[in-house]
Amino acid sequence: MTDYENHPAVNNLRNYIRIRSVHPNINYDECINYLKAQAKELGLPYQVYELVPKNPILVMTWEGLEPSLPSILLNSHMDVVPVFEKSWTYPPFEARLVDGVIYGRGVQDMKSVAIQYIEAIRRLKNKGLRFKRTIHLSFVPDEEKGGKNGMKNFVKSDYFKNLNVGFALDEGLASPDDSYIVYNGERSIWHINVICPGK
Ligand SMILES: [Zn+2]
Repeated sequence: MTDYENHPAVNNLRNYIRIRSVHPNINYDECINYLKAQAKELGLPYQVYELVPKNPILVMTWEGLEPSLPSILLNSHMDVVPVFEKSWTYPPFEARLVDGVIYGRGVQDMKSVAIQYIEAIRRLKNKGLRFKRTIHLSFVPDEEKGGKNGMKNFVKSDYFKNLNVGFALDEGLASPDDSYIVYNGERSIWHINVICPGK
C-alpha cells in the first residue's frame, strides 16, 4: 500500500488548506506567497495581477513547444466560504488526516483541484515531457462572492487576452459514487431573460 499519509502531494494539499483564505475580508498574501513558492519549485515563471486592490490573481506558465498555439488554462479559486467552527468534528483549518480522509474547509471546494494541477505538472516536468501548447495555471480570488473582483474582471483585461486561451478547466463537484461529474460547455453559453408583461 502506498504511504499516502506522507506523500508530498498530500502534504502540499494540507498545507494549502491551512491557509485561512476564508470569507469575509480575505488577506490573500499568504496564498500568493505559497503559490509563488510552488511556481519556483516547479521552475515556472509567474505573474501576479492586481486589477482590484487586495484581490490578486496569480498565473504560472509552462511554455509549450509551439507557444503561438492557443493555450490550456487550468483555473482554480483560492477563496473558501465561511465556517461554523462548532459544527466541525476537527478544526476546519487544521487539515487533519483521519482514516484516509482530510478534514478541512476547501478540501473539496477547491484547493484539492489546485494542488492536483500543480502535482500533475510537477510529475510531467520531472519526466522530461514537453507539450506543444502552453499551459497556464491561474489562481483567482473572490469566486465564492461571484468573482466580480476576480475572474469576472480578469477575463476583460489584456492580460487575459494575452494568455490566448483555447480551452479551460475549472472545478466540478464531488460525486458520492464511482462516477465523475463533468460540466460541459460547448460553443457558448446562453443566458436568456424571459420577460412576461402579463398582458
Ligand atoms: Zn468552488
